[in-house]
Amino acid sequence: MIEILTRMENTYNGKEYALLKHAYDYSRKAHVNQKRASGEEYFIHPCTVAGILIDLGLDAATVAAAFLHDVIEDTPVSEGDIKKEFGEEVLELVVGVTKLEKISFTSKEEEQAENFRKIFVAMAKDIRVIIIKLADRLHNMRSLNFLSQERQQRMARETLEIYAPLADRLGISQIKCELEDLCLKYLEPDFYEYLSTNVEERLKANVEFVDHVVSEVKDLLGETNVSGEVFGRKKHLYSIYRKMKERNKTLDQIYDLVAIRIIVNTIDECYEVFGKIHHKWKPVPGRIKDYIATPKPNMYRSLHTTVVTNFGKVFEIQIRTYEMNHAAEYGIAAHWKYKENKKIADDLDTRLSWIREVMEWQGGLKDSKEFLNSLKGDIYSSEVLVFTPKGDVISLPKDATPLDFAYSIHSAVGNKCVGAKVNSKMVPLNTTLNVGDVVEVITSQNSKGPSWDWLKIVKSSSARVKIKQFFKREMKDENIKTGKVMLDAEAKHRGYNLNELLTEDAFLSISAKLSFNGQDEMFASIGYGAVSVNQVIIKLIDYHRKSQPQQEATKFFKSNKKHDSGVSVKGMAGLLVRFAGCCNPVPGDDIVGFISRGHGVTVHRADCPNVNNFDKDRLIEVSWTKVADDGSYNTGIKVLGHTQTEILTIVAGVCSQLKLDIVSTNGRTDSKTNSAVVDFHIRLNSAEELKNLINKLSQDPKILDVFRTAN
Ligand code: MN
Repeated sequence: MIEILTRMENTYNGKEYALLKHAYDYSRKAHVNQKRASGEEYFIHPCTVAGILIDLGLDAATVAAAFLHDVIEDTPVSEGDIKKEFGEEVLELVVGVTKLEKISFTSKEEEQAENFRKIFVAMAKDIRVIIIKLADRLHNMRSLNFLSQERQQRMARETLEIYAPLADRLGISQIKCELEDLCLKYLEPDFYEYLSTNVEERLKANVEFVDHVVSEVKDLLGETNVSGEVFGRKKHLYSIYRKMKERNKTLDQIYDLVAIRIIVNTIDECYEVFGKIHHKWKPVPGRIKDYIATPKPNMYRSLHTTVVTNFGKVFEIQIRTYEMNHAAEYGIAAHWKYKENKKIADDLDTRLSWIREVMEWQGGLKDSKEFLNSLKGDIYSSEVLVFTPKGDVISLPKDATPLDFAYSIHSAVGNKCVGAKVNSKMVPLNTTLNVGDVVEVITSQNSKGPSWDWLKIVKSSSARVKIKQFFKREMKDENIKTGKVMLDAEAKHRGYNLNELLTEDAFLSISAKLSFNGQDEMFASIGYGAVSVNQVIIKLIDYHRKSQPQQEATKFFKSNKKHDSGVSVKGMAGLLVRFAGCCNPVPGDDIVGFISRGHGVTVHRADCPNVNNFDKDRLIEVSWTKVADDGSYNTGIKVLGHTQTEILTIVAGVCSQLKLDIVSTNGRTDSKTNSAVVDFHIRLNSAEELKNLINKLSQDPKILDVFRTAN
């Protein structure tokens, strides 16, 4: 442990060393009297993890965090303490590692493992957190022999499924290889034993041969005037194991137990040596790999070839530059080392480009902005991965709620859902879930099923479909009745008789657009909220207008008596002005006038769909003047909800919030459909205020619908 202090002193500058020494002392004090399963002092663990990271060449903040990575979880030290002593950066790293600590991987399936890797990356907002976690796991795997056999197995499997592939993705082959060999040792102890003994024997028997080849290659470098290193490198056991399993071979049939590695200075030299080797020895067909021209997804670069020597023996040769060799060993961690050594410009993009390339798992991240977001944990922004209490991963769309979770388990679970716990705490059903949350659904057999509000809460289309299915199935008759009443009321309100509007032809025309199988289905759809009543009534009125244009013209003038002042018509004084009933303009709206014979000027909103059908020559510019003495005016809104009291309470609340006066109210309840409608007259100063009011009200889940009416 003293040794690590020396290594830190030799590796980091004075300021960094001071930070690290402080972390060292702090961790030692915090973990005092704690023991590992091996019986050693606990502090050995953070020290070793820090040591692994120093070897990988990570920065001081990461190494400091390594010393402290178990302090929050295992000692009374708080996040606040860490922040005070070591600052925000170290705290973030420590918190990140602590968070990952809490995820437990229980499932064995491939797909789940991939999800876990995703969750891992998504939760670790800083890639350094994952590297600390890998070092932590490496030391835990090294000291696995002190745990029970069951825990050994579980940990080894988890390591093989999650951690080794992560190390591979990040290109840190050192850690990847050691982890894989340790996993093999615990998962296939007999095979491991067999391999380590026999591979070693074969290597010993081959020493002379390998030495011979190395010296021949050295001569070859000498002849070509290329300076570099040549050495034999044994393959790690797990890769031999995998080859035997995958290709169904015996150990004797695996010829590349040792690879000859040649390290030179430039890429040109790589290819030059490559050519010379093939000139000297015959390459085995199909075994030549150019990972320099086409790097592996984790950015591994090297030339590989397998050749047959004069004695008929076969072996693999790897040719690469020093830089490629370093990158292959340290992967993403090489980034920090190179930052020190090569003084790469501090430009963010340059610094990140290496990680970006490594992280392009599926090649999806295009530009640096996207990449930066991905580093912040948004790689999988379109989905949020959460856990069941048993540890299975469920993938939901972004911003999903416990209800989405419940319906993703089964529609019966969703329909009986009465509450939810997230990370063991009761939460409202509209809570937004975050990646890594453990979600538990509380169901009750007495539940009457989903409520209308749920359609506004759920984010996944599958949940929405299931809720609608419920209403459709469970309440069909009632839905038809409700829908009919709603449509009838809406028609009356707009000055029509539903029987007049809903002719056979009219229905055919709208069912072509909204695809209903019969009128009952249309009513039911309105009743259970699949289509809004407005959607249907507007189409019906539209059809009606087109079929009876003359009658329609007079309808515009029906309802307006007030406000014949307040609008000035360009170039004409004293004209009779009316407001159109179809679009109900209020002061502040963009408006246009329509000159109607004998009826003066009708004012429409500029965006009123009817304006398009008018004769352009009869349109005239109009503008708002002051409305009343105090500049205010009244306008009507209609609000649909479950009970009058509820509607009144909500509207009164919003109005007082927006400082608006309610001038009058008029409501009615339909006890059969359990719904209520209230008309309000509100005193307003601008169209903006009206917009705010309607917006606010329509956001309330208890309000079923709200719209503006005639004044
Ligand atoms: Mn640890």
